[in-house]
Amino acid sequence: MRKLKIDSVHCKACGLCIRACPKKVLRLRDKINPAGYNYVVLEDEEGCISCACCALNCPDMAISVYKEA
Ligand code: SF4
Ligand code: SF4
Repeated sequence: MRKLKIDSVHCKACGLCIRACPKKVLRLRDKINPAGYNYVVLEDEEGCISCACCALNCPDMAISVYKEA
């Protein structure tokens, strides 16, 4: 099973992952992280197809797509 992990502490809310996602399942949260940014969350886990476009487009490498054993 593939999973998506978002590092909310290092997200700077640039929105590049949101734009890159073909399924539009990412959004910025209302809450802020310690750096003061509205970090990204996966809104619809079922809708994510694990394509990794978000991870490849994040300049801060704050998203990882990995396989769960
Ligand atoms: S892995 Fe693909 S579908 Fe899932 S959130 Fe990232 S860009 Fe969207
Ligand atoms: S691309 Fe990375 S830094 Fe930018 S909003 Fe998405 S997770 Fe945050």
